[in-house]
Amino acid sequence: MEKELRDRIEIVEGDITKMEVDAIVNAANTSLLGGGGVDGAIHRTAGPELLAETRKIGGCPTGEARVTKGYRLPAKWVIHTVGPIWSGGNRDEDELLASCYRNSFKAAIEIGAVTIAFPSISTGAYRFPMEKATNIALSETKSSLLANQSIKKVVFVCFGSEVYKKYQEVFREVFT
Ligand code: ADP
Repeated sequence: MEKELRDRIEIVEGDITKMEVDAIVNAANTSLLGGGGVDGAIHRTAGPELLAETRKIGGCPTGEARVTKGYRLPAKWVIHTVGPIWSGGNRDEDELLASCYRNSFKAAIEIGAVTIAFPSISTGAYRFPMEKATNIALSETKSSLLANQSIKKVVFVCFGSEVYKKYQEVFREVFT
């Protein structure tokens, strides 16, 4: 069981906009109108049709997720989720980040996505501590994959070698 579960997870270093998966997850902000970091990269690659669709959605609360098409991205769908801004740890940041992963998996299952790629939500401009965020990402993924057999592959796309190393390290802890 554990081995089969591990085989459904992949950790790579790279750019999420290039991923050929059914759905990529965007670390968006509550406006859903684009921003810096991974959000900016996704909007630039997807093209202006993405912004037109997110405008119609009209925003998303922290911890929730909304689905759009992928337009010019190789991915068919984008799941936009809004991570918490780290402000010391007493504002439900852990629970809100866990909700991002849970709600993203829920959305992926609803649209029938079988392969899904995640960035490291909240650890850039939103300053969530890397190790804590990675633990939440991998623990929530473990629970969601155990509960849902329909998702065959989850790829964590690490932007830079530091993020990649941290995911490898935490993966060994969470999956042994
Ligand atoms: P947040 O506001 O949720 O912190 P950021 O986009 O600032 O979102 O950062 C989240 C993570 O996404 C960081 O680890 C950042 O390095 C990474 N990132 C930035 N661009 C890309 C990209 N093109 N593909 C994958 N990850 C990216």
